[in-house]
Amino acid sequence: MIEATITELQEALRARKVSARELAKESLDSMERQEGNLHAFLARTPELAFESAERADQMLAQGNAPPLCGIPCAIKDAILVEGVLCTAGSLMLENYTAPYDATVVRLLREQGAVMVGKTNTDEFGMGASTENSAFGATRNPRDPERVPGGSSGGSAAAVAAAECVFALGEDTGGSIRLPAGFCGVVGLRPTYGTVSRHGVISLASSFDQVGPFARTCRDAEIVYEAIAHKDPKEATSAERPASKKSFGLKGLRIGAPKEYFTEGLSSVVEQGIRSALGKLEGAGAVIVEVELPNVKYGLAAYYVINTSEASANLARYDGLRYGLHTPASTIKEMYEQNRSSGFGDEVKRRIILGTFALSAGYYEAYYLKAQKVRTLLRQDFERAFASVDVIAGPVSPVLPFKLGERSSDPLAMYLVDIYTVPVNLAGLPGLTIPAAEADGLPIGMQLVGPQFSEPLLFGVGKAFESL
Ligand code: GLN
Repeated sequence: MIEATITELQEALRARKVSARELAKESLDSMERQEGNLHAFLARTPELAFESAERADQMLAQGNAPPLCGIPCAIKDAILVEGVLCTAGSLMLENYTAPYDATVVRLLREQGAVMVGKTNTDEFGMGASTENSAFGATRNPRDPERVPGGSSGGSAAAVAAAECVFALGEDTGGSIRLPAGFCGVVGLRPTYGTVSRHGVISLASSFDQVGPFARTCRDAEIVYEAIAHKDPKEATSAERPASKKSFGLKGLRIGAPKEYFTEGLSSVVEQGIRSALGKLEGAGAVIVEVELPNVKYGLAAYYVINTSEASANLARYDGLRYGLHTPASTIKEMYEQNRSSGFGDEVKRRIILGTFALSAGYYEAYYLKAQKVRTLLRQDFERAFASVDVIAGPVSPVLPFKLGERSSDPLAMYLVDIYTVPVNLAGLPGLTIPAAEADGLPIGMQLVGPQFSEPLLFGVGKAFESL
């Protein structure tokens, strides 16, 4: 039953056709069968799963169980689950046990969701393929020679392979939307601030946002509604406006950004997205070309801000407070030893770049300039949303690529983020939906709306699924 949707499972659980315990077992068996090949998980948590399943079965027996009660799920290994290792894909945190639950985890536990394990990620979320994990790459369930996307590739693969029903990931520059697209599942990066970052290992704090992976838009929406709550423990947390409105495609104005259909886009992906836009048009939507002129500076601005914030966030891994600790005779030696052996190449590269960008004398030229581009990009989107309801385009310029194809060339890896980072720079929500297929591989379409427009994005996604 583990391939079923949350809605179907809710019914089956409530009708006592299946128990939470049986579902947990099914999920763990599915992992047992597939993990040797996929490596979507860094840790499996059978004890925790059976313990929460027992509680879920009690809640179900009492009636009025919340929507996620008894549903098996996976959590990206950058999100703290009390008492469970949390590595962020890094040797630096190889032995770090989370001392408390992240707010999102607490919210899932309160609903009776059943956590079956922690999923693989690029080290500290830095990457687009999961190949930067210190513990080995994840493979794409659709083609094991290919990457699942990253950094939340483990979560996307686990959902696509039905090792669990939904998963949480984290999106700083595309890490939910890209792997969702590469694995053929739904993934939402929520509006910045709607989901708490408390208990989430930071990459770049002004971009980071936790969100769901699921196999349908309705499922992703159920998870989003469970985790998007204002959190007094998090300063940038915002109240999500309530919405009961329903959305249809008739007369809906969909903007296709000119800059998303330029020469960098591979022709197979372009064909897939154009045919998906054609379907939307056939159902009554109006497709208009929009311009986002500053998108061309998006990647440069994103990588300056990302590396700057990362260099500051990662300063805490000094060998004293978290994770790896090797004895040394001086403090300086200890820092050097821990940080040289604990961090991988991509992390070191970003610390060096970010420290440089923030240094006196260069700050204005790089960091400040990038922040100005960020404002311009936000204004581009605002202008576009004055004439369209939602923006649609590709998630990635290319199909899922082969393992090893880009891992030795950081710039080639960064280029995969070209269509996702503008959304993070502007703090907007973005939803990936499976839109088409080519050569047996999925093509994801990205829907972007104004802040807090998640109900609209899900509405369009659900309408597209039913076409
Ligand atoms: N690929 C992007 C990066 O490496 C996005 C990462 C993310 O969203 N965590 O920064």
